[in-house]
Amino acid sequence: MNLPRRNLMTGAAAAAAVALTASPATAVPGGSRRTGSASLARETGAGMPKRILIRNGHVIDTEPQPVAHPGTDVLIERGRILAVGRNLRSNGAMVIDATDHIVLPGFVDTHRHMWHSALRSAAVDVDLDAYFRLLGQVGPKFRPQDVHTATLAGALECLDSGITTQLDFAHIAYSPELAEAAVDALKAVGLRAVFGYGTPVNVTGGGKLADVRRIRERLADDNALVTMAYAPLGPLSTPMETVSKDWRIADELDLPLTIHLASTPVNERPIFALRDAGLLRKKTLYVHGNGIGDDELKLIADSGATASATPGDEAGRLRRAGITTGIGVDTVAFAPGDMFSTMRAAHLAGQIAEDPRMTAKDVLRMATLDGAAAMGLADRTGSLRPGKQADIIMLRLDDLNMLTAERDPIGAVVTAAQPHNVDTVLVAGRVVKFAGRLVHADLRRTARSLRATAVAISAR
Ligand SMILES: [Zn+2]
Repeated sequence: MNLPRRNLMTGAAAAAAVALTASPATAVPGGSRRTGSASLARETGAGMPKRILIRNGHVIDTEPQPVAHPGTDVLIERGRILAVGRNLRSNGAMVIDATDHIVLPGFVDTHRHMWHSALRSAAVDVDLDAYFRLLGQVGPKFRPQDVHTATLAGALECLDSGITTQLDFAHIAYSPELAEAAVDALKAVGLRAVFGYGTPVNVTGGGKLADVRRIRERLADDNALVTMAYAPLGPLSTPMETVSKDWRIADELDLPLTIHLASTPVNERPIFALRDAGLLRKKTLYVHGNGIGDDELKLIADSGATASATPGDEAGRLRRAGITTGIGVDTVAFAPGDMFSTMRAAHLAGQIAEDPRMTAKDVLRMATLDGAAAMGLADRTGSLRPGKQADIIMLRLDDLNMLTAERDPIGAVVTAAQPHNVDTVLVAGRVVKFAGRLVHADLRRTARSLRATAVAISAR
């Protein structure tokens, strides 16, 4: 028996716009069940049945290179991808009908400041100095509840638009309580996240080991859904003694590093400065790369470190230098918050850049597998390889802007798709969005809280 997905979910949407509570699973011949979202939660009590079969989609895998396969299934067991192929047996799995949908790995956003969700469009058309001044002015006004609210809203925005993995460069850690609040929010939403414990832009003395350790003890499991990195100011704006001290904190706590990278008066040749101090290392994710010389990019490539382009003209240059490069949103203070817009910027910039042009396949790989590799998470996400966590999204092909996109699903994901096409999202096999709606979120409450936060910060 086939039930139309949208009819199924009409009940769910009406039920509360939140939890997986709607219609019961419907028996179909062969013993499998076709479902909306309803019975997923009921059967397991946790929103994740043991087996899920995503059936008959235009499936894009990204490893080793993006390839689209029509009429293909993805079988998930205990949160991991078990198989990808045609006519897979459901064996009692919950079946999600992917007819007229593109199925692909969730996007990986390698760099975003989640707390900026309360600062949307606050720094459009201003120069970088003005942007940093703004951060220095408003950052100290954030209280833990504000960081929690902004991070929660940002994480929901990620899931809603198909970003399943995200690095939160949280340079708001004026106190460990603020860092705790961000971690609480990331954990509550169920996004795969790396929490980057970040030094605020106007705290130039480096981090405090005891404070960073406190969060590290909480995020001690490097295989958990939320893990940790250290995000100091680095050579961008602190002298090398401070940089050395921060690098020691990362070593002491066995944390990967992520830093903004630019040539500034503090360090005009930051990568040479790191090399001379013996601080070039593998587990470092550099953000940006414009203004960095080709000779410095080569040093990064040789060190085995990775990069995040955000997103346009620097994307192709970093890749050409041989650096594993993902894409990041950076900040909604002046940039769009979704990966479609971000991929589009990278693709367009890659089209006008010198040869070789950056293709849609290149961009999609950067937004998935390469991003995961840049964050050190390619062993668990970024592609549909069996054994990986089931971080998967489905895009509707019957929306007006996607009609006939099945002729080139990869090209369409990069050039045509929009957040509203994101129908279904799974993180580690847990359904977090279905039939176009986030299923565990109270969006009205989130909106109310975020607006109140923005108003309160302006008034302080
Ligand atoms: Zn940034």
